[in-house]
Amino acid sequence: MRATTDAPASGRRWQVLLGTGITLAALYVIVDYGAFASSVYVGVTATAAIAVGIAVRRRQLYRPAAWKLLACGLALAATGHSIWYWLDLRGLEPFPSIADAFYLAVYPLFVVALWLLGRRRGEADGAVSDALILGTSATVLAWAVLIAPYLQDDSLTTGQLLVSAAYPVADLLLFPLLLHLVFAHTARMGAYLFLLLGMVAYLAADVLYAHGNATGWYDPGGMTDGAWLVAYVLFVAAAWHPTAAAEPPSVRSAPRLSGQRLVVLGAAAVLAPAVILMTAGTDVALVRIAAIASIVLFLLIMGRMAGLATQTRRQAEVLEELSLTDPLTGAANRRYLEHELDREISRAGRTSASLCLVFLDLDHFKRFNDDFGHRAGDELLQDLVAAWHEVLRPVDVLARYGGEEFVAVFSDVDLDGCRMVVERLRALVPHEQTCSAGVASFMRGDTAKDLIDRADRALYQAKHRGRNQVVVAEPVPS
Ligand code: GH3
Ligand code: MG
Ligand code: MG
Repeated sequence: MRATTDAPASGRRWQVLLGTGITLAALYVIVDYGAFASSVYVGVTATAAIAVGIAVRRRQLYRPAAWKLLACGLALAATGHSIWYWLDLRGLEPFPSIADAFYLAVYPLFVVALWLLGRRRGEADGAVSDALILGTSATVLAWAVLIAPYLQDDSLTTGQLLVSAAYPVADLLLFPLLLHLVFAHTARMGAYLFLLLGMVAYLAADVLYAHGNATGWYDPGGMTDGAWLVAYVLFVAAAWHPTAAAEPPSVRSAPRLSGQRLVVLGAAAVLAPAVILMTAGTDVALVRIAAIASIVLFLLIMGRMAGLATQTRRQAEVLEELSLTDPLTGAANRRYLEHELDREISRAGRTSASLCLVFLDLDHFKRFNDDFGHRAGDELLQDLVAAWHEVLRPVDVLARYGGEEFVAVFSDVDLDGCRMVVERLRALVPHEQTCSAGVASFMRGDTAKDLIDRADRALYQAKHRGRNQVVVAEPVPS
């Protein structure tokens, strides 16, 4: 739905919200850490939650449930921040604390929100499986870089270790969903781009925080906390951007696996075994993780290939069907007729079975169009073919030869039988219209062209004699 009745207003609003939010984030980083800075922080986060909530209520956002979850996530973050700053400003070491429970609760909401937004109508284009492939690979990398060092740190308590590890793991849940947005090509729309940038800022802040905490350089009130704030502000800009109300373009059904994507997926697939190679023996846990990831990656890539193969086969079937069918009526087209006629002629030549070809042409169809409109004419052609298909045998060929001209081919049917069928077909012409027909039967030595020409001449005679009748072509003496 593209209805964005509030487009002009929200067009300006998101810019104002973004500008104000970024300014406040900068102010937070610049001023000294303390009660004022932390109030700004909590205030901006809470306002972001409310602003996204208002966008859900006021604007007809696409997939509103996703934005609601985002608003709830921001509300949880605001609660977490207020608890964290309250503890920190009182000199209590707030790690791990009840604030972490709120922070961690944000991730599932974001994961589901991103999943809802990335889910697409139309055929799957491998976005989910590509996201999973890269996500799995990134898990190994993050484990090697972020988690493995923690595990060897004896200064951390078990609680601290678990909570420390929970963040990178939660980030890794988010990561494939983010990639999904990119691969599903929704990220090209303004709202999704802001959402994506916001999530990247959020993950970057997480990584910086984890690193800073582990190595001791993190202090509240700096760029790391600022990055989270920027993320929240970007979410607000996303919710208020005009494109948040628009449905993303549907997926093209062609299987796409561009060279670039193939290179990225290939690199992701070899990362896990590469980690095994580099760390072999020194860190058994890491080797195990990388080995499991290798198996998962292998299965995912097999699944991706199977998906591509199925898609390609389906498309080939659809293409074949399209290339042999008349799009308006669903009857066979001339290409199919030529193919089948050649086959039937060579069969009749071999077996001396009878074979008849009929040219059928609606009478005064131009007049019908003039009287009732071209659309009614189209419908008549569709009804006609549907009615004819009802009485024809599956082996009979009915092809649309031109505008209102059809050719039917009957094998193993003699002239008398053919005449009877043609009379039945003529009786089925809808809307009290009539049609004329010319019939020719196969004779030894005939080519497809001979047979068609004879039936065409017979049709011409039927028209000449006053229409609404059948003429059988005289057999030509051999
Ligand atoms: P006759 O009895 O001599 O066959 O007269 P006619 O009017 O049926 O034949 P003519 O060849 O003069 O005109 C054929 C008409 O068929 C003209 C064209 O507008 C109409 N026609 C051809 N293809 C289509 C189509 O796909 N849809 C519709 N609605 N009309 C078509
Ligand atoms: Mg006609
Ligand atoms: Mg005609």
